[in-house]
Parts: sequence; structure tokens; C-alpha cells
Amino acid sequence: MIFLKRQDEIALMRESGRIVAEALRVMAAAIVPGKTTTKELDEIGEAYIRSQGATPSFKNYRGFPASVCISVNDEVVHGIPSDRVLEEGDIVSLDVGAFKDGFHGDGAWTYPVGRISEEAQRLLNVTRESLMQGIAQCRESRKIGAIGHAVQTYVESNGYSVVRDLTGHGIGRNLHEDPSVPNFGKKGAGPAIKRGMTFCVEPMVNAGTWKVKTLSDGWTVVTADGSLSAHFEHTIAVTEDGPMVLTLPNEA
Ligand code: MG
Repeated sequence: MIFLKRQDEIALMRESGRIVAEALRVMAAAIVPGKTTTKELDEIGEAYIRSQGATPSFKNYRGFPASVCISVNDEVVHGIPSDRVLEEGDIVSLDVGAFKDGFHGDGAWTYPVGRISEEAQRLLNVTRESLMQGIAQCRESRKIGAIGHAVQTYVESNGYSVVRDLTGHGIGRNLHEDPSVPNFGKKGAGPAIKRGMTFCVEPMVNAGTWKVKTLSDGWTVVTADGSLSAHFEHTIAVTEDGPMVLTLPNEA
């Protein structure tokens, strides 16, 4: 069942989304190549979220042991923060959720650690742009499938592949709600997009095969061929005027 949100509910989600965006920014700014561990970033993210009167949506969600999913290089999503040090040339995906006043926000961004290869930078650029292409489809009268169709078309035309095993999702009072928002498929597939829908668009893009596997820790999803992977995510609301991105920082 898809829950449509009123204007006042979307305003609350905007606040949760702001906290997510600013937590990402604070964590990214703290990265020192060769020094910062993923566990330290998790602590910084959690402290920021709590300082805003919110709680980390992911902590203990289905038993996840941290506040931020941190996935490095060939790790796609759901990496568990650890003593791993981020090294010059790595790419690191930070995925974070914040819950405040009854509503969740959820967003992710993949950052370069120091100087990265041209190929890695291109993967980041293509994945970020595929998110924008997907968001542009979030308009009334289209189908949810139009989002994934746009993402897949853009990604594959750039020689990369889209992860199929994981999808975007509705969000609101629950971290995961209907509808499922795949990053691939047919334009006309899925439910109609309606005003008041709130969901996460989150392409996961691999430099090699789209196939993934889960490590024995039960969480970390990695590319099956060891290739690099990137992940960008925004929470959006569908309005009369089109998509409204909720996971943005406050304008200065
Ligand atoms: Mg999500």
C-alpha cells in the first residue's frame, strides 16, 4: 500500500532530509586519506544526527550494527563501519537515514578519497547524473518504471551496469514503504506516480557486471567481479510542480 503525504507531512520529511544531507556533508568533510576509519565516520554521522534531535534510522534496523552504511570501492551497499582506514584513491559510499517527528529521510553519496583515478571519477559522475535523470521522471501521470528506465538507459549508454538485486523504495513513517523503485526496466511498468508520493531514488552502478553477492557478514553487498561500484540517493516528494528533492542541505 502506498501512503500519500499531505503538505505538512512533506514539510516534516524535508527536515529529516535536511539532517541526512548535512550529516553526509559533515562526514565527507572529516575524511583524511590514510587516517580516517569508516568507524570514525559512522560516529561523526551519528553524533550529527543526534545533535539535530533526530535518531539514526539504520541503527539496529533489522539488526544493522551501526548508524551509517559505509561501502568502499567494490562494496556496493550495506558496508559495516570498521577499523578500515580510507586510503588515497578509494571511493567511499555513505548511506544514512534520519528519523525525526515521525518521519524518515534517506540519502547516499559516493565520495572520492583524496585523488582518484579518472575511471573512478567517471563512474561517480555517471552514477550521480543517472540519479538526476531518474528524478526528472518523478512526475504525475508517469509510471514508477519511467525512473528506472531513464537510469538504466543513461548508465548503459555510458558502458556501466545497474544493480538489479536492490531497488529504491517508498519512505515516510517507515524507512521502507511501497512502492519499490527499480533502477532498470520498462517505462510503463509499476504503479502510476501521484502527487504526495515520497520515495527514494537510489541507483547503484557497477563498472563491470551488474551481478552482486553478499559477504559472510550477512550485510556487505559487493560486485561479483570485484569492479568498482557507486551509489547516489535522494529522498523525493512528488508535487504539483514535479519532483522536490528533500535530502538537500539548507541553503546558506
Ligand atoms: Mg534507501
